[in-house]
Amino acid sequence: MKKNILKIAITSLTILLISSGTLMAQHNHGGQGNGENAQNHTHHPPHGGQMKEAGKYHIEMVVDLFLKKDRLTFYLFKGKLKPVVNEEITGIITIEYKDGSTVTDTLRAGGDNYFVAQLEKPEPFTCIVNFQVKGKLVSGVFTHPGLEIKTGGVYTCPMHPEIKKESPGTCPKCGMTLEKQ
Ligand SMILES: [Zn+2]
Repeated sequence: MKKNILKIAITSLTILLISSGTLMAQHNHGGQGNGENAQNHTHHPPHGGQMKEAGKYHIEMVVDLFLKKDRLTFYLFKGKLKPVVNEEITGIITIEYKDGSTVTDTLRAGGDNYFVAQLEKPEPFTCIVNFQVKGKLVSGVFTHPGLEIKTGGVYTCPMHPEIKKESPGTCPKCGMTLEKQ
C-alpha cells in the first residue's frame, strides 16, 4: 500500500518536472530579449513591479512611488500568474534600510488579491517577504533604490491614468504619448 503511494508520488513529481520544463521552454521562446538577467524569471510583472519566483509561486512587489503613500504592495501568484486570494494567506515582511535599521511588520490585506506594508524611510532598502499559504512558506527577497529618486514629475497616459512614468514616453497599453501631470 505504502509502496503504491510512493510510486504515485514519484510519477506525479516526474510529470510536474516535465511539464514545468516545457512551460519554461515555451516562455523563453516567447521572450522579447529585452536584456533581462538570464537567471531572473522572464514573466512580465502584471503591475509593473519587481517579480520573484518562489517555487510554484511568484511574488510581485510594487512601490507606489508617485502616489507618495510610501506604500509597498505585494501580489502573490500561482502557476501562470493566477492571483492567490487573500483568505488563504498571511504574510510578514522585514524591511532593512540602508542605515541598518530593520522593521518587521505584518502584511495587511489591501483588497482581494494584494497585501500592503508601510515604508518608513525614503532610503534604499532590502525586504524579505514571508507568506504562509495553507501552512507553506513562500518567500521573496526584494531590493529597491528607495524613494529619493523622485525627479522631474510624473508622466501619465490620457486614456490610462494607472500608467505612471518618471520620464516622457508612450503608453505601453495604447501607444499614446504620455502627458506630464
Ligand atoms: Zn494608454
